[in-house]
Amino acid sequence: MVAEHNPDYILEIGSLGKRFGDKTVFSDVSLRVRAGEVCSIIGPSGTGKSTFLRCINQLETPDSGNMWVAGQYIEAGMHLSGSDLIQLRRNVGMVFQSFNLFPNMSVLQNVVFPQQKVLSRSAEESRDKAMDLLGKVGLADRAEAKPMQLSGGQQQRVAIARALALEPKIMLFDEPTSALDPEVGLDILNIMRDLAKSGMTMLVVTHEMAFARDVGDHLVVMGDGGILEEGDPDQIMSHPSKERTRRFLRAVL
Ligand code: ADP
Ligand code: MG
Repeated sequence: MVAEHNPDYILEIGSLGKRFGDKTVFSDVSLRVRAGEVCSIIGPSGTGKSTFLRCINQLETPDSGNMWVAGQYIEAGMHLSGSDLIQLRRNVGMVFQSFNLFPNMSVLQNVVFPQQKVLSRSAEESRDKAMDLLGKVGLADRAEAKPMQLSGGQQQRVAIARALALEPKIMLFDEPTSALDPEVGLDILNIMRDLAKSGMTMLVVTHEMAFARDVGDHLVVMGDGGILEEGDPDQIMSHPSKERTRRFLRAVL
C-alpha cells in the first residue's frame, strides 16, 4: 500500500490486486511513475496488462491496494463517481487496441464530443481544439468522414487526437499498434514518440520492443500474477533476471 503519497510521482500504485471471480489476475503490483516518464509494460498475453491499465482509470475496480493518480486517491473497492470520475477522465486519457471510436459520429464529432461532455467546453472552442489536433495527426482533411471510412491507422490517429483533446496528465496506451500493419504501426509509434518528447507521462502496453527500448524510460515485465521485473529497458532486455522474462523476450525480440 502507498502509505504516504510522494508528490514527486504523478502515479503511485501500492500493492494493487485484481481478480475476476475466483481467478486472481495479479496481486501486489506496485509502481511509481514520475511526470514526463514513459513506462512500457510488456509480458505474455493474459497476464493482466490491459486489466492493470483499466484499473488505473476505473474501467475496472481493483480488489486490493491503493493508488494516487494525478493527485486523486483511489483504493480497492472504491467506485469514483460524479465530479471525481470526471476529474479522473480528464486527467487520464486512454487509447485502445481496437480504436473504440464512436461509429455514428464524424471524425470531428469524435474529438469534439468528449470536450463538451467532460470539460463543458463551448462548441466553438471544442471545434478549434479538435481541428488543431486533427491537423497534428495529419487528418484535418478527413474531419467530416465517419470512422468506418478510415483505415485502421487513421482511426487510431483520431483516437489519439480524441484523448489529447482533454489535455490529460497521463496517457494510457493498450497495444495501440497491435491491430495495424507494421508500416502503419510505425506512424502511430512516431506520433507517440513525439508525444513523449513533448513531456507527456505515458504508460504503454506494447510488443514493440524497439519503442520500449528507445522511447521508454522504464520497463515493467508482467507475468506469474504480478510484476516479474522492472527497471531500465536496456538493462532488462540485455540481462533479464528471471527465466520467465528470458523466455518471453526470446519470443518477441
Ligand atoms: P493481457 O492484457 O495481459 O493479455 P488481460 O488483462 O486482458 O491480459 O486479462 C487477464 C486475465 O483476466 C485473462 O485471463 C482474461 O481472460 C481475464 N479477464 C479480463 N477481463 C475480464 C473480465 N471482464 N471478466 C473476466 N475475466 C477477465
Ligand atoms: Mg491486453
